[in-house]
Amino acid sequence: MISVEEALEKILGYFKELEKGETPILESLGQVLAEDVYASIDVPPTDNSAMDGYAVRASETNGASSSTPKHLQVIGEVAAGSLANQPVQPGTAVRIMTGAPIPPGANTVVPFEETDELPRKGQLRSFPFTIGILRQTPPDSNIRRAGEDVHRGTLILKKGTEIRPSHVGVLASIGMQTAPVIRRPNVAVLATGDELADISQPLKPGQLFNSNTYSLAAHVLDCGASPKILGIARDQVPALTEKIRQGLDTDLLITSGGVSMGDYDMVKEVLSKEGEITFWTVRMKPGKPLAFGVFNTATGRKVPHLGLPGNPVSAMITFELFARPAIFKMMGKQNRNRPIIQCTMEDALKNQDGRRIYARVRVMQRDGQYFARLTGPQGSGILTSMAQANALAIISEDITQVREGDRVPVMLLE
Ligand code: AMP
Ligand code: MG
Repeated sequence: MISVEEALEKILGYFKELEKGETPILESLGQVLAEDVYASIDVPPTDNSAMDGYAVRASETNGASSSTPKHLQVIGEVAAGSLANQPVQPGTAVRIMTGAPIPPGANTVVPFEETDELPRKGQLRSFPFTIGILRQTPPDSNIRRAGEDVHRGTLILKKGTEIRPSHVGVLASIGMQTAPVIRRPNVAVLATGDELADISQPLKPGQLFNSNTYSLAAHVLDCGASPKILGIARDQVPALTEKIRQGLDTDLLITSGGVSMGDYDMVKEVLSKEGEITFWTVRMKPGKPLAFGVFNTATGRKVPHLGLPGNPVSAMITFELFARPAIFKMMGKQNRNRPIIQCTMEDALKNQDGRRIYARVRVMQRDGQYFARLTGPQGSGILTSMAQANALAIISEDITQVREGDRVPVMLLE
């Protein structure tokens, strides 16, 4: 049996970062920038007002207070989106709205609240009118300077950045419609098993619904990759071969089932004819049997294959530990690990056969401390206990027993 780390290292050795492509910025969410991005413009492009108020010459507010207002002649108004073409001459002011460009001659903005506009509202309809400034206002007040957010020519987003909503906003703020990102991997998902029925079919006696296709494809989507659903292959060599060939136009083929001891000869037979297959037992629970291989396509491309165990929880946990990092590597993501925190266990657990246990737990925070509680029976077919879990407690190979109150490392899934 090999360790989780050995299996992961061997698997990751087969994957590399995919090519880049120009992608509409909104669709690039979650992808990784393949190039540095430099600003082609200043943001904001012009000096503009941060408040609704009056654009004035700061020196003309000297000595202003509510008992000694300074009076200026308001010659016009400038709204956001319009041009400020009336210069502010000595003795004058221009009424200005938030976001509107600062008129030439003005060097500060006095907010409405610091003028006598509010009490006189209604009287000040047509220009010119006189406004009383009630506070001395230093130069540069309430002005957003051109380029204060982004200076033209500067590096604003670095290659390798994983695009989040704020990055989409920054790209839009400099007028970029597309971003150079590493493309999303295509991942084929194939279930195997004579006992499986698709959810679109009625369940016959002896059958169970194929849940792995859906949980794994959802996991693929959650990683930011595109699933290609191949359906169910029956447990026969020709059926499996045919389905697998349909998946070879992807970057990764994931199968579930057919790798446990009794079954695996069939998978091995198909896979060894079409490529190379390695079969490991990994020192972990759930999820001991794991197949890994590489297919050769008709065009000479190589497509890695991860053969996950069929039990629904084993399939999900082995996806988490092996497929997710592989997909992230293809996507160019540097940070491929889930956060691990120390938690106090609220349940006892036995580890009888020297494998590493990944136990489904719910992590809660109380009084600044983290606690983890098992979500229920840990059988590898109990998918609902996976659904209730927000984390996996990691019980190392050499620990035979976890007692209530023991501190254990816990991998957060959310
Ligand atoms: P296998 O690894 O093929 O021996 O599968 C082990 C067990 O996992 C089977 O007996 C099924 O109960 C279950 N199983 C396998 N594939 C699926 C699937 N696609 N959806 C739900 N359960 C499955
Ligand atoms: Mg099977």
